[in-house]
Amino acid sequence: MSNLLRVAVIGAGPAGIYAAEALTAQDAVPVAVDVYDALPTPFGLLRYGVAPDHIKMKSLATTLQRTLDHDAVGFVGNVRVGDDVTVEELLNDYHAVIFSFGAALDRRLGIPGEDLIGSMPATDFVAWYSGHPDTATDAVLLTATSAVVIGLGNVALDVARVLARNAEEFSTTDVPHHVLDVLRASPITDVHIVGRRGPEHAKFTIKELREMGELDGVDVFVDPADVADVAEPEDKAARRNVEVFREWATRAPKGVSRRLYMHFHSRPAEILGEADVTGLRVERPDGSSETIPGQLVLRSVGYVGRALPGVPFDAEANVIPTEASRVVGAGPGQYACGWISRGATGVIGTNRSDAAKAAAAVIEDATELLQRDVTPGSAVALLDERGVQHVSLAGWHAIDAAEIKLGEARQAARIKLSTREELLTAIDP
Ligand code: NAP
Repeated sequence: MSNLLRVAVIGAGPAGIYAAEALTAQDAVPVAVDVYDALPTPFGLLRYGVAPDHIKMKSLATTLQRTLDHDAVGFVGNVRVGDDVTVEELLNDYHAVIFSFGAALDRRLGIPGEDLIGSMPATDFVAWYSGHPDTATDAVLLTATSAVVIGLGNVALDVARVLARNAEEFSTTDVPHHVLDVLRASPITDVHIVGRRGPEHAKFTIKELREMGELDGVDVFVDPADVADVAEPEDKAARRNVEVFREWATRAPKGVSRRLYMHFHSRPAEILGEADVTGLRVERPDGSSETIPGQLVLRSVGYVGRALPGVPFDAEANVIPTEASRVVGAGPGQYACGWISRGATGVIGTNRSDAAKAAAAVIEDATELLQRDVTPGSAVALLDERGVQHVSLAGWHAIDAAEIKLGEARQAARIKLSTREELLTAIDP
């Protein structure tokens, strides 16, 4: 029996890579960690969620890459665990499996009109501008002059900002050419952010909110009545948000070409239109109704996790249930961290401590886990047998280099390849 603890991490987003980092940072137990991902590329929501104009946040990839480059860490991309290889098969190869595949599905509102043309989840819009390979390049055609974004969270701010911001500011980001072309041609003039509760309940983080009020060529509007009677929130984050809204409410418009309107206490009731969206009807606390005109409605009301065959799942909370990072109801050797165990809350940094706890639980259980015989390499052998074109760390480095090269033409750090075919061709031209 070897004393090398073999761990598979399922999901190469920040949570998964932080788990690998924590496993390799300890020296009580020698480890070998393979990080799997359904995509040919690592970094999960850092690559396909964080908005392209948040360049400083994107640079976290350099730190995560260091962990992937660690001698004890491998990358196995383009593998759908559950389809290409089962969890049971992984457990024949590894002593422990850590689930960290996030929460990729959108939450629905359950109101009429959600399936009209022009109504879509913000997650689809984010995936499109992020060049996600499972999104058609023509999934979004921005023909709307007015867009309505439902939700008062950071994702709502991201999509509203991408819609409102001058497209030229994206030319030095990693957005694929087709995205930049669509943003450049967008005729949008008005963006409405709609929340069912008041300004003191917005979940925006202050830096992102302030940024919205400082965009070039965008006037922001808050109805003074919405901030007049708000009691001073005790929570510091809420208090700072309310201060920003109060300041916006006093602003004189500059008369620039794009406008952002905040609508509070506006419960979405119906997305209007026959085939195409024409607006959103909202209900106010006094029972009155208002129609916010728009040809694009993006619902940004949270992400939810997806069940993985053979792994316990709490269908109400949409998470893998855990106790001290160990999956409840599973045999030994199964752990979870990040959004799939916690739900879709918190910023990227929140996952670091969460992942460290999962890694610590694995190390704590190491003696018991090492009792079980495993067959190292058996999972990848199965993938080869099944003709799955899995991507190694060297493969990802080839994709990375190709994207960095593409970026030169636009003075961007990189331009993303946005189809699986392009990504895989970069590995094997
Ligand atoms: P979120 O912060 O949970 O916000 C979801 C919003 O949807 C809330 O305003 C919520 O309102 C609203 N909502 C939920 N159900 C609704 C319904 N049926 N009708 C109307 N509104 C509804 O989620 P998120 O924006 O998707 O963000 C997910 C996580 O990622 C957050 O932790 C966020 O901070 C993080 N993130 C961070 C950044 C960044 O740091 N730059 C960027 C993107 C995302 P109620 O409060 O009334 O429920």
